[in-house]
Amino acid sequence: MMLLTRKMIEIRSLLQTIGQSETLTLPSIVVVGSQSSGKSSVLEAIVGHEFLPKGSNMVTRRPIELTLVNTPKAQAEYGEFPALGLGKITDFSQIQKTLTDLNLAVPEKDCVSDDPIQLRIYSPNVPDLSLIDLPGYIQVEAFDQPTELKMKIQELCDKYIQPPNVILAISAADVDLANSTALRASRRVDPRGERTIGVVTKMDLVDPVRGAQILADRNYPLRLGYVGVVCKIPKDTKSLFSRGSANIMNQLTKNETAYFNAHPDTFGDVTTGTPNLRKKLMHVLEATMSASLATTSEAIQHELAEATYEFKVQYNERSLSAESYLAESLDAFKHSFKGLSDTFGRKEVRDIVKRELDQQVLNLLAQRYWNRPVDSLRPIDPVTDGSVQADPISSLPKADPENPLWHLKLDASTSTLTKLGIGRLATTITAQALQESVEGLLHVSTFASHPFAVQAITTASEGILRDLSFDTSDELEICVKPYKYRVEVDSSEWARGRASIGNVLGRELKDCEAANKAVEEQLGGRRKARDVLSFIDRVRSGELVIEGSDGVGGAGGFSAALLAKGREALFLRDRADILRLRLTAIKSRQCSNPANKYYCPEIFLDAVADKLTTTADLFLDAELLSKFYYQFPRVLERQFRSLDEGTVERFAREDPKIRRHLDVVRRKELLEHVLKEMEGLRVLEAREKRGISRG
Ligand code: GDP
Repeated sequence: MMLLTRKMIEIRSLLQTIGQSETLTLPSIVVVGSQSSGKSSVLEAIVGHEFLPKGSNMVTRRPIELTLVNTPKAQAEYGEFPALGLGKITDFSQIQKTLTDLNLAVPEKDCVSDDPIQLRIYSPNVPDLSLIDLPGYIQVEAFDQPTELKMKIQELCDKYIQPPNVILAISAADVDLANSTALRASRRVDPRGERTIGVVTKMDLVDPVRGAQILADRNYPLRLGYVGVVCKIPKDTKSLFSRGSANIMNQLTKNETAYFNAHPDTFGDVTTGTPNLRKKLMHVLEATMSASLATTSEAIQHELAEATYEFKVQYNERSLSAESYLAESLDAFKHSFKGLSDTFGRKEVRDIVKRELDQQVLNLLAQRYWNRPVDSLRPIDPVTDGSVQADPISSLPKADPENPLWHLKLDASTSTLTKLGIGRLATTITAQALQESVEGLLHVSTFASHPFAVQAITTASEGILRDLSFDTSDELEICVKPYKYRVEVDSSEWARGRASIGNVLGRELKDCEAANKAVEEQLGGRRKARDVLSFIDRVRSGELVIEGSDGVGGAGGFSAALLAKGREALFLRDRADILRLRLTAIKSRQCSNPANKYYCPEIFLDAVADKLTTTADLFLDAELLSKFYYQFPRVLERQFRSLDEGTVERFAREDPKIRRHLDVVRRKELLEHVLKEMEGLRVLEAREKRGISRG
């Protein structure tokens, strides 16, 4: 049992997942040979399938790290490119195509690349082996091959044929061994021939006696010896089996055995045949692995020490996994959400809804009460029925409160306000405010650097709020229904309304004055504004008649644009005047009494808005807020906890800082694991050796 090789191959695969390091290389068998020496044919004979790139144009441009995994109980044979994630490939012509594409992707000008392609082949017919196929040495450069190609291939091969690797030097029988590029390269790095296996291909092309002489070579002695093979895939087999997944091993072996068996006396003392080569490779690799156990362990210890140091210095030994990172981020977010639920309550809903209704009340007043034409010259008090006010206070209010006109006006305004669709309006703006708060929290959370999570959380909260809003808005509308028929305002409500609308109008007045100032500046300052405005005033009052004009368009030495701005200023001035007037009215004695509501529609409408708001905030707090605060964290929990491992990993790795941290932790854990395995192997080895020496 080649247990050690198998274990070491597993360890190599593990180490490959954290990226290979220069110092940490487990022994492999490196296959070198000049072009057309039969290198591919030997590898394919070992595997039992045609899978290597073929073609006259140099097709092996990258090293292929070929791992053979023996699967004794399995039926199927398949390949895998671990770095590509293509899954199991059972069609070997597909593997061949993928390898060809990967090789041809190396730009022509680079000739070769030292970035290896990893390929694993699983089969009951292969031994556990780790082989590296390299671009074939070239003797004479073709006219279209760059001149440095020869050098580049040599450099690449030199990198791989270093210890502890075993060199499989391929030479063809019909070429003098003295001219074998592979053997020459091997001798440079392994002068005593201790870790080189010589393979002589195309034995069928030379006279059997001559062939046997080559194998028994004394000029270039190799401790691991030479093996002669015949690996030519028979023509008929080729056409029948070369495509797809059929195994060609039997055909090849039969062919090869027939050849060597035909000359039993000649080949009696030398090693021949692919099956023997396979066995030799297994034993040599096993022995090499065994010999390198100690140094490999040391190298892993060294790597581990480095990773541990980095973990300590950079990350303060804070352990981290993708799952724990996600869980921590989620907990932190839920915690901040809890904070939101503590600070966003009934009072906040009240503020939002009332602010919106204040705006609606202002609009209503403007439409129904302050609705003098924009071009009116002086402020008009609608309650005093339109007379021009020089001194508003002295003439407030003169209208007859019993006049049905004022009753109608106020009733219609109240009705508009109560039938506004407060259910939907209040629910929508509250839901929007909640959504914005959630997005605000996201923005300052760890999730901010994870587009995937931001998207998922935003969508989740939108979804919950949408569903809740649907029922809530209908139900709230039912709650405010009584107000649509009758609204009673008592004296304390009146007093509150009076104070409140005073503030609203005051703020509005400030806004108006600020806007007016801005427009005045655009007009070119206060003086210029006064000129423009007085010109428009005079035209409006009929004092100035401009022939053939609509009154103000591009007249009086002012441009049309200036006059348009002027009209804007006029509108703001009028509105400010009205607001001032109404503020005075509200503060007047008449307006302190709810019985005078027809004099003071502003106060009454504010009181109505206040009642609507009170119903809304009570209802929204119970139906929208508390349900959202309950459901949202649970939905998040469910969603995030059910993510599959790959998604969690991708999520965590979106953040470069976390990615580095995760890499260090993983590297350290993996090296610890590998080291433990290695120690186990060493114990096993030592026991076996003792067993052997005792036996
Ligand atoms: P590579 O360039 O070193 O990979 O060489 P290939 O494996 O592609 O072989 C080059 C040529 O030699 C092909 O046409 C093979 O069919 C042929 N060939 C390989 N092995 C043998 C063999 O054992 N006997 C004979 N007669 N031809 C072989």
